[in-house]
Amino acid sequence: MDPSPRAQLPSALVLSLGGTIAMAAPGAGHGGVAPRLTAEDLVAAVPELAEEAELELRDFRKIPGAWLEIDDIAAVAELLNKQAAAGTTGFVITQGTDTLEEVAYLLDLLYEGAAPVVVTGAMRNAQMAGADGPANLLAAVRTAVSPQARDMGVLVALADELHAARHVQKVHSTSPSAFCSPGAGPIGYLVEGRPRFHFTLQRQPHIELPLTRPASVEVIEATLGSEGAFLDAAGSLDGLVVAAFGAGHVPRAWAPRLGDLASRVPVVLTSRTGAGSVLTHTYDFGPGSETDLLGRGLINGGRLEPRKARLLLLALLRSGADQTMVQAAFAAHR
Ligand code: ASP
Repeated sequence: MDPSPRAQLPSALVLSLGGTIAMAAPGAGHGGVAPRLTAEDLVAAVPELAEEAELELRDFRKIPGAWLEIDDIAAVAELLNKQAAAGTTGFVITQGTDTLEEVAYLLDLLYEGAAPVVVTGAMRNAQMAGADGPANLLAAVRTAVSPQARDMGVLVALADELHAARHVQKVHSTSPSAFCSPGAGPIGYLVEGRPRFHFTLQRQPHIELPLTRPASVEVIEATLGSEGAFLDAAGSLDGLVVAAFGAGHVPRAWAPRLGDLASRVPVVLTSRTGAGSVLTHTYDFGPGSETDLLGRGLINGGRLEPRKARLLLLALLRSGADQTMVQAAFAAHR
């Protein structure tokens, strides 16, 4: 007797957090959009999903990407770790694209399972012509249940491209192709509806939950002629990430103040360019060069762009990591 095809479907959990993919206006054509759709609504718009997986649906949050908090994502990670251990084949997170790259990266740090986790969203809401949510959701589910995506940590699926959480960035405010991986490129594509990977990834070391220690970490960006007024407020922080010019440079007046702060809390040097590495000893023009700043005790953020460096530092501090652990974690990114 042939088993029914449905019995053979893999299991996938779809967690809806909100965002444009779940946004609609209060009345057809009236007013601005806000998160109103449930995970069930999203799935109902994509009949093909019934052939891909046995879906479990959860409305975990119903908020814009900008409202998500670190604790929300820690709670998602805890749930994924539990369900992965219990045998769920794959996971899809739908959420606002505003913070999608940060959520994907933070989850990648906290998730321990081998089952694929795929984060997706939409740039056009469900009521717009050419809404991209349904196609993105289908691509995400197909990737989440793909054996090839196992053990790659957290991936991002949008516009038929697959990106690694550690590389992906939102680089356009409205385009349906708003996501790219500067300096790396997509890790794969959906071809005729199936994920195809160009290369594999080594998992990054994970950070232990829970994130119960309070910690405050901010990013400060170097800009032409800035006097660094924000640095005056940095004394109350537990850590700071500097989004520096180019290969790791800041206005000269910042250097002694950053050095002073680095003697008390971790201060991480990254590049505001969004791709490439912070250098270590190429420029030595005095105050504000990378050689000067690293000599003053700043931590080299390597290839991590500022927002991801902030999440790494924040997650480490909130999990109780000491200075040696922080140094070691960033050293792995050079
Ligand atoms: N403002 C939306 C959000 O992040 C943008 C989006 O989802 O594309 O919630």
